[in-house]
Amino acid sequence: MSKPTDLTGLTAVEMADKLAAGEITSVELTQAHLDRIERINPALNAYLAVDAEGALATAREIDRRRAAGETLHRLAGVPVAVKDIACTKGLTTTAGSKMLEDFVPPYDATIVTRLREAGMPILGKTNMDEFAMGSSTEHSAFGPTRNPWDLDRIPGGSGGGSSAVVAAYLAPLAIGSDTGGSIRQPAAVTGTVGAKPTYGGVSRYGIIALASSLDQIGPCARTVADAALLHEVLGGHDPMDSTSIDAPVPPVVAAATGTRDLTGLRVGVVKEIGGEGFQPGVLARFEEALEQLRELGAEIVEVSCPHFSYAMAAYYLILPSEASSNLARYDAMRYGRRVVPEGSPSAEQVMAASRDAGFGDEVKRRIILGTYALSSGYYDAYYGQAQKVRTLIARDFAAAFEQADVLVSPTAPTTAFKIGDKLDDPMAMYLNDIATIPANLAGVPGMSIPAGVAEEDGLPVGFQILAPAMEDQRMYAVGAALEARIAEAQGGLVLDNASEIPGTHDEVTA
Ligand code: GLN
Repeated sequence: MSKPTDLTGLTAVEMADKLAAGEITSVELTQAHLDRIERINPALNAYLAVDAEGALATAREIDRRRAAGETLHRLAGVPVAVKDIACTKGLTTTAGSKMLEDFVPPYDATIVTRLREAGMPILGKTNMDEFAMGSSTEHSAFGPTRNPWDLDRIPGGSGGGSSAVVAAYLAPLAIGSDTGGSIRQPAAVTGTVGAKPTYGGVSRYGIIALASSLDQIGPCARTVADAALLHEVLGGHDPMDSTSIDAPVPPVVAAATGTRDLTGLRVGVVKEIGGEGFQPGVLARFEEALEQLRELGAEIVEVSCPHFSYAMAAYYLILPSEASSNLARYDAMRYGRRVVPEGSPSAEQVMAASRDAGFGDEVKRRIILGTYALSSGYYDAYYGQAQKVRTLIARDFAAAFEQADVLVSPTAPTTAFKIGDKLDDPMAMYLNDIATIPANLAGVPGMSIPAGVAEEDGLPVGFQILAPAMEDQRMYAVGAALEARIAEAQGGLVLDNASEIPGTHDEVTA
């Protein structure tokens, strides 16, 4: 099987078209996904919770309204999966942590409200690294998610669950969150599409906060056009989020479905991303994609972003600082896990015991780091300095976008690594995001599309496209053109050819 032959094998666009034409019902479509989830999810551990009843209720309601002749949203009836970082009313939301194991939110995140308003059945909640800290989903308190291409390998992180459900056809679309690469890097290593919109382009209201100045919600999909449709549902101003941009959603759908001609477009290759530390097969696919962009009419220029080499260092001061502040709310007094030591413990002792039991190692590591970086006497030397570097990185982007319309790089330095390989080495884990972090620090949009598989291991390689803030449509236009060109060259989309590779969906099914 290259891709499933039932309804789950369709793209979201095809599903939407068939629903609109009355060829299928949303109940059939949703049930097909639920059946496949039941069969395949145990091997992947990609969904933490499945809401069959809720999804089917939405599907029935949409079918009824369509039959009554109502005008519906284009994606009405198309199912979606939601990363377990977004609050869903009445449905457990854990953020991959024991701290929130039993947390049932009393309200929906704005993006969840928007999915409901569009009439999209929510299949369930996807696995993730605890509080979105990680690049492999191994830091989830509920066990790792496995990569559908090879069950011994990681699906990326923190949003490995969302990318794995899309790659394994357990949902056509999923929601991710990207603080330093958690949508794009999982997309790269699973052969799927993932986009991080401009900071402020999608509401963060009701999203469990990691680092508020970096966090951004975005779409995971199998094609660029599918991602654009979901982006459009999610985006737009929300008065409940003070950082939400009060402007229309950039025209991403038009861009993803428009011309494939890139004549005159200047594509900037960032000199500082690539080379040493990057797997040869990843670099080979990247070079090949540049050639394909040239064939589409684009002009390739080299740009330099000298401060990108400090991006990781700045990120690992800014992120832990903001995270230590955001995670202070898990004090066992208001909600979340509460552990009461024996005797008559003080409030501090209850907090300490609860946090000790509730947080995993990586979360504790970052809280300690952040608390240290923010402490008096060190604040200027660490946090203050990192913020200055952040400004220099934003200036690098501004200068680069004078010379190029979009910037490109490999999304991740390697293909999917083996489960367990980097778990005990935080630095090795952090290096997975070396190419994705600069965009978060500057607030610019970024996307990863599949660029084929690496020759040495047959695993997917991601190609990253970055655009200036509020110009998200540019990366969709380039992504869609390149996607079509790559599919043409290799006789289908990367995922359609997955059967060629040992350890893929076939074996998952078996
Ligand atoms: N892997 C990065 C980290 O661990 C990015 C996480 C994210 O984007 N949520 O911080």
